[in-house]
Amino acid sequence: MRIDVLTLFPEVFQGPLSASLLGKAIERGILEVGLTDIRDFTADRHRTVDDAPYGGGAGMVMRCEPLFGAVESLRGVNSLGRVILMSPRGRRLDQRIVRELAEAPDLVLICARYEGVDERVSRMLCTDEISVGDYVLSGGDLPALTLIEAVSRMLPGVVGDWESVATDSFYGGEGSPRGILGPPQYTRPPEFRGTEVPHVLREGNHAAIARWRRKEALRVTQTRRPDLLADCSEEDLALLAEIESEDGAPHTQQQTGAGEEKEP
Ligand code: SAH
Repeated sequence: MRIDVLTLFPEVFQGPLSASLLGKAIERGILEVGLTDIRDFTADRHRTVDDAPYGGGAGMVMRCEPLFGAVESLRGVNSLGRVILMSPRGRRLDQRIVRELAEAPDLVLICARYEGVDERVSRMLCTDEISVGDYVLSGGDLPALTLIEAVSRMLPGVVGDWESVATDSFYGGEGSPRGILGPPQYTRPPEFRGTEVPHVLREGNHAAIARWRRKEALRVTQTRRPDLLADCSEEDLALLAEIESEDGAPHTQQQTGAGEEKEP
């Protein structure tokens, strides 16, 4: 897969693209990331990419010409099939969108700065607008890196053990299209400050471990993100019924913005 990034700060990408799994994916040629400096597509001596907004008001707006020029320069290496503007006004990124994007042969990501881009960039040049959440950053660079890292995990060979992807939070599958949250994990020591690792995980019964993990994943999902449990399989419903009969009260730990919580 090839991803071309248009940015005013190519240096922001160097560290994240060279470290860890992403670095290895690129080194092994599973993923190719091209960095294009938008300033290379300006015509004036000062390499100006922005200008004052029509109608007045605060801040500067990114001009059309450098962005159109930069995208069009990628003809030949990129199909330009999907040109994505990183934008707080976009569709909110989730694992379903990540999986869909990972199917594409290539992507172009546009990282804006200042007050954003001239509206004609989003209307005439981009096929998608994607947001990483309901908050505003100073630029689209970190959102683009977030998208690249999430997409890279869906490419065969990037994460060594596919099982680790398939049991991640939000990895949908049969019976739970949007996926659920991941189960709790433990490592050594078996007891830490009085709290023990659940016995089932130490006894080596793989079927019992798998069942425990699914059940605990459902438990945490029910407490924190009940919205994810809309289309459960029969098996999951049976486990949820078991949880209810054991607990009565759901766990009290809350996540900020976790949606509706049942009163204990
Ligand atoms: N004036 C704009 C915000 C501009 S922030 C508005 O009110 O919507 C500058 C740039 O940072 C954006 O154009 C976008 O490329 C990027 N950016 C900021 N927050 C983002 C988010 N939540 N998701 C994706 N990109 C974001």
